[in-house]
Amino acid sequence: MVRPRIPSRRRFLCQVASAGLGTALFSSHALRALDGLRPLYVGNPLWHYPNRDWERVYRDLYRSDSSFVFLCAPNDTHNCLLRGFVKNGVVTRIAPTYGYHKATDLHGNQASRRWDPRCCQKGLALVRRFYGDRRCKRPLMRQGFKEWVEAGFPRDEKTGAVDPKYLKRGADPFVPVSWDDAFRYSAMALENIARTYSGEQGMARLRAQGYDPLMIEETRGAGTQVLKFRGGMPPLGMTRVFAQYRLANAMALLDDRIRGSGPDDALGGRGWDNYSWHTDLPPGHPMVTGQQTVDFDLCNVEHAGLALIWGMNWITTKMPDSHWMTEARMKGTRIVVIAAEYSATSSKADEVIIVRPGTTPALALGIAQVLIGEKLYDRRYVEANTDLPLLVRMDTGELLRARDVFANYTPPPLTNNIKVLQPGEAPLPIHKQFGPVITEEQRREWNDFVIWDDLRGGPTPLTRDQVADRFTRLGVRPRLSGEVTVRLASGETVACRTVFDVTRQMLDASYTPEQVEKITWAPAKAIRSLARQIARNAERTLFVTGMGPNQFFNSDLKDRAVFLVAALTRNIGRIGGNVGSYAGNYRASFFNGLGQYIAENPFDVETDPARPARVRRYWKPESVHYFNHGDTILRYGKAVLTGKSHIPTPTKAIHVSNSNSLIGNAKGHYDSIVNTFPRVEFIAINEWWWTASCEYSDVIFPVDSWAELKFPDMTISVTNPFLYVFPATPLPRIHDTRSDVEVAQGICHALGEVTGDERYKDYWRFLHDGGMRPY
Ligand code: SF4
Repeated sequence: MVRPRIPSRRRFLCQVASAGLGTALFSSHALRALDGLRPLYVGNPLWHYPNRDWERVYRDLYRSDSSFVFLCAPNDTHNCLLRGFVKNGVVTRIAPTYGYHKATDLHGNQASRRWDPRCCQKGLALVRRFYGDRRCKRPLMRQGFKEWVEAGFPRDEKTGAVDPKYLKRGADPFVPVSWDDAFRYSAMALENIARTYSGEQGMARLRAQGYDPLMIEETRGAGTQVLKFRGGMPPLGMTRVFAQYRLANAMALLDDRIRGSGPDDALGGRGWDNYSWHTDLPPGHPMVTGQQTVDFDLCNVEHAGLALIWGMNWITTKMPDSHWMTEARMKGTRIVVIAAEYSATSSKADEVIIVRPGTTPALALGIAQVLIGEKLYDRRYVEANTDLPLLVRMDTGELLRARDVFANYTPPPLTNNIKVLQPGEAPLPIHKQFGPVITEEQRREWNDFVIWDDLRGGPTPLTRDQVADRFTRLGVRPRLSGEVTVRLASGETVACRTVFDVTRQMLDASYTPEQVEKITWAPAKAIRSLARQIARNAERTLFVTGMGPNQFFNSDLKDRAVFLVAALTRNIGRIGGNVGSYAGNYRASFFNGLGQYIAENPFDVETDPARPARVRRYWKPESVHYFNHGDTILRYGKAVLTGKSHIPTPTKAIHVSNSNSLIGNAKGHYDSIVNTFPRVEFIAINEWWWTASCEYSDVIFPVDSWAELKFPDMTISVTNPFLYVFPATPLPRIHDTRSDVEVAQGICHALGEVTGDERYKDYWRFLHDGGMRPY
């Protein structure tokens, strides 16, 4: 039997190749023709692999033609300088710069390499945003608004209100327009609104529309006062975003044109706030310290023995600075999380105390009760550095004053950091002030305090100068507990106790650990343990408080109670022992030229870059709380709860930059959209990513993303020590966008054309004369 011959792989290939000739037989001629297809035998493929050039395609995926540095600066406030890698004109990927260690301070101290790499996953993925389909790509105008302007701003004859048919925000289509038209229509609207609500007639219209009489009175007849401008988180762009307030200042020119008010009586627009409205402000900080906020750089945690992470999700929300906390823990810092939920930070802690939301003022008071009850407080520090030894009159409940006790008492001059202005004396510019500045009148009114000196057995005056070493040098032993009888200058006697004594009574009566456990659900045992840990860590306990606890009506008490605990245990103002609050960004005050920028006198512009601007603030700050509360003030029956200095004006025009919090993320969004916004006649927004705020605006000004900035800018952070510059980048604009500052300039130019007033142009001359210049 003849076995069928099984063809080899090689033979099979040849057969296949020759099948086209219509035969499976091999001819020598055919085999010669297939010489070129002879198979290649490879021994070890790792040694003899064929040409690998094709791999370059994959390797080159990450090759770039060039790179540039830009600053990522969203609302998280961390600020990371990132490097964008460009290929074929497109940013293909983003990486950290690894350059933070090169930063130095004014004394030449250099940052360590531990600051690198500084970034987070969101920053690395920004390419998707720069090229995303939700970019604001060209100026857009809402159809109804456009028609209202083109129809000559028709209004109700009696009230001046706009016909609702022009106000269908959220339903109207958007129309692409040129930049010139976007500026011109906006300027015309601002002019018309300001004119409509100016003078007696303007105020009558506002009355007819039902606005609160106090708010109408607050306009003082200036229609520009109903124009509201807001830079969202403005320290995130000292020139870009703060441009909104300079724009508000320029509205004084409009008032002058409409009412003929002249530079002395003109009123600008109103500038809306951010930090307090966002509940970023810890309200008890200014109450206790006089500072807007007390804080420290988060890297300080390495110097602490104990860190209380109080209502803050450090790991999740402080991304580039989270490593400081985990590394500190590895080096021995004890981490205690106090939170209403179990968070990513809880899983990194040594101890977690879960509390009911909004109850942590009681927790802090419970800790204070243990500190005093177990005598764990630092008595010397308390005596020399706090107001706890001051005497309180039991008849009035007020602090006893030196003038009440000592006949003809004259407060001595203050020499320890406080500047008292003499009558007629002007304060130094803010950047030259070394400490608090008060008037002679305030000094007289405040007078001095009184303590009870056990060494002398009587009352002793105490000035604000006499703290810390100066207090120790007085050679007194202040009484902390018990009641004393003080003879007043009038001859009467009055029972007095110290602040310490009445505080202790309050704590013992209401805030024992067992009582606090009922309020907070934190176990009494944990409260006692925490108090003892804090006492063991004098100057080494950091209170790292977050934004969450700010959002309750008692949030000022939270801060005040935390400061009480810190004061009892010598944990204020030390590198490893301090109180800090981390939400938003308030550090604009670090930029001492800001006042010149946002309040340069528009009637007296300085066009010489070498000379300082002359300042006159025509715009008035206003809290957007009132607008978010239905554009009303707080009244309770006949009582007006809004203080005189805080009365807002009616809101008829809004221009916002860099924020979605006023519309898209607003508290009570539905109420705002349905009831409040329809009374606003013009809403403009600067955005680079389409948001709900764009959806409800009349004009959308598309602005540059951080990768496309064409003017340098500056910012700062509340979590780290760096001052940042936004570099102007070489990346061509991806869409038809402009800088926020060019938007402000463009509106002013258009106002100049609408009103025939040349001064608007001068106000932004530095911009068109070659870019931003230092102020
Ligand atoms: S931490 Fe914030 S600033 Fe830094 S890269 Fe991430 S998103 Fe940008």
